[in-house]
Amino acid sequence: MGPSSPQFNPEELRRWQFGLRQADDNNVFCHCRQCDREWVASAHNVQCTCGSTDVETISCWQFPDG
Ligand SMILES: [Zn+2]
Repeated sequence: MGPSSPQFNPEELRRWQFGLRQADDNNVFCHCRQCDREWVASAHNVQCTCGSTDVETISCWQFPDG
C-alpha cells in the first residue's frame, strides 16, 4: 500500500495513457518566427496575433522536467 507501488488495472492504464496522449495533442508551445511571440495553444494549426502562420510548434511534453 505504499505510494511507490501503483497498481493500475488495464482500464485505468488505458485511461491514463489516453490522458497523456490528449495532453500531447492539445498543448503545444508556439513560437512566431516573424515577431518572436511565444505562447501556448491548444491546437496544431496556430496563427500568431501578428497574422503570421510561420509558427514553430513544440509539444509541451518535450520540455525537460525542471
Ligand atoms: Zn507573430
